[in-house]
Amino acid sequence: MAVVGIVPAAGSGERLGADGPKAFAVCAGRPLVDWSLDVLAEVCERVVLAVPPGYEQPPDRVTGGASRSESVRLALAAAPEATVVVVHDAARPLITRDLVERCIAGLAGEYDAAIAAAPVSDTIKEAGAGGRVRRTLERSALWAVQTPQVFRADVLRAALGAGPEALARATDDAMLVEAAGGAVRIVEAPPDNMKVTRPLDLRIAAELLSC
Ligand code: C5P
Repeated sequence: MAVVGIVPAAGSGERLGADGPKAFAVCAGRPLVDWSLDVLAEVCERVVLAVPPGYEQPPDRVTGGASRSESVRLALAAAPEATVVVVHDAARPLITRDLVERCIAGLAGEYDAAIAAAPVSDTIKEAGAGGRVRRTLERSALWAVQTPQVFRADVLRAALGAGPEALARATDDAMLVEAAGGAVRIVEAPPDNMKVTRPLDLRIAAELLSC
């Protein structure tokens, strides 16, 4: 089994309002992405990053694409040896080795993917134009999906071949595998596997990483 980490880190991070790309914003004294790389390096034989233009050094970095999943596709193309792929967003610096290993173990049986997620604690409603509520979803069956997401590499490669429009619509990679008929399993994540999107998130993540 050749386990390869893929880190999409090519986003601009406009909502964070940092000077440069989000993945390279300083968090608890180092670039945000470095926190994830430390953990992935403990489990993966190799980690390939998709980065914004101008950030392609050191090795094992490729220029990212127009969408998140396009960045994943480009990075995976640089790792033909992979049989198992751990996709993890640079924006989630509190990833743990235990969570990555539980996702890898989650492939056992008939599964094509095993993805980190947290049970939803808010009530979720679907609304239309003007905010008019259409219906309330059954909360007990809802999960907020995160990364890491672990895939059988051949299944992910095939799913990422869906074309640029499907990749641009995908908000995670498991969606593409589901659309192709693949079997995806949820792996419950610890409550602190947060995503850095806005300045407040960066402050909270820095605080947690400094503990
Ligand atoms: O924008 P968002 O926070 O959802 O992005 C999730 C991850 O995907 C981030 O780590 C970001 O750097 C990455 N990304 C990428 N290529 C893009 C857009 C986002 O690698 N074109």
